Amino acid sequence: MQILILSDIHANWHALQAVLDQAAGSYEQIVCCGDIVGYNPQPARVLEWVKANCAAVIRGNHDKVVAGIDNLEWFNPVAQAAARWTISQLDTDAMAYLRELPQGPLPLEHFAICHGSPRDEDEYVTSPSEAADVFPHLDLPLTFFGHTHLQGGFFLQHRRIGPLPTVPSSHEEAVIEISPDTLYLVNPGSVGQPRDADPRAAYALFDSVQRTVTLRRVSYPIQSTALEIQKAGLPDVLALRLFQGR
Ligand code: ZN
Repeated sequence: MQILILSDIHANWHALQAVLDQAAGSYEQIVCCGDIVGYNPQPARVLEWVKANCAAVIRGNHDKVVAGIDNLEWFNPVAQAAARWTISQLDTDAMAYLRELPQGPLPLEHFAICHGSPRDEDEYVTSPSEAADVFPHLDLPLTFFGHTHLQGGFFLQHRRIGPLPTVPSSHEEAVIEISPDTLYLVNPGSVGQPRDADPRAAYALFDSVQRTVTLRRVSYPIQSTALEIQKAGLPDVLALRLFQGR
C-alpha cells in the first residue's frame, strides 16, 4: 500500500494541484494532518476536494478557529483576517464538515497522524529536544505530524534523537528507510504555505512494502495563488510569504 500524506494545505489550490500532478500514480490512498483552510484564497474548493478524496483527516488549529471551536482572538491579526474571510466563504455543509473533523492523534493501519503532536494538537515540535518530550506519547512507531510547516522531523533510536533528512533545494525528494527498532515523527511539510525557506509545495509518500517514507517538493505557480490573494482582499503579506517560503 502506498499512501500520500498531506498537511497544512491552507486553501492553496494551485499548490495542491501541483502535488497531485507530481504524485499521480504513486499512491492508493490519501491522508491529511489538518489545516485544510486558513491563509490562502480557495477554502471552499480545497475543503470539497479533501472531503471527497482523503481516507483520513484530522483537524488543525485553523480548522478549529474557522469552525468556531477555538477563539479567533488567539490568532495574530493577519491570521485573524484570513480566518474571518474564510468563514465568509464557507457554506453550512463545509462548516459542519470542519466542526466534525476528529482531533488527532488518529491511529491508522500503518502509522498515526496528528496535527501538532500526539500529546497536544496545538503544540509546535521544531527541535530534537522538543521531540524528546513527545516520543513517549507515540501510539505507533511511525507518526506523521504537521503544524510547523517545516518538512522533515525526528527519529529516536537507542536513546539517540536526531533530525530526519530534508530535501535539498537542488533535489525533488529524500527517502527515509524505516527501521524496526526506531521511532519516527515525520513532518510531510506544508502543501500550501511552506516555512522552511523552500517555497515549493511539500508532501510525503509512505510505502508499506518497501518500508520507506519519501519526502517530496514540487514547484507550483505561486503567482496564481498570489493574484487570488490580492483579488480576495486578503493581507498582501500572505502572498509575499509564499514566494519566500516563510
Ligand atoms: Zn498550519
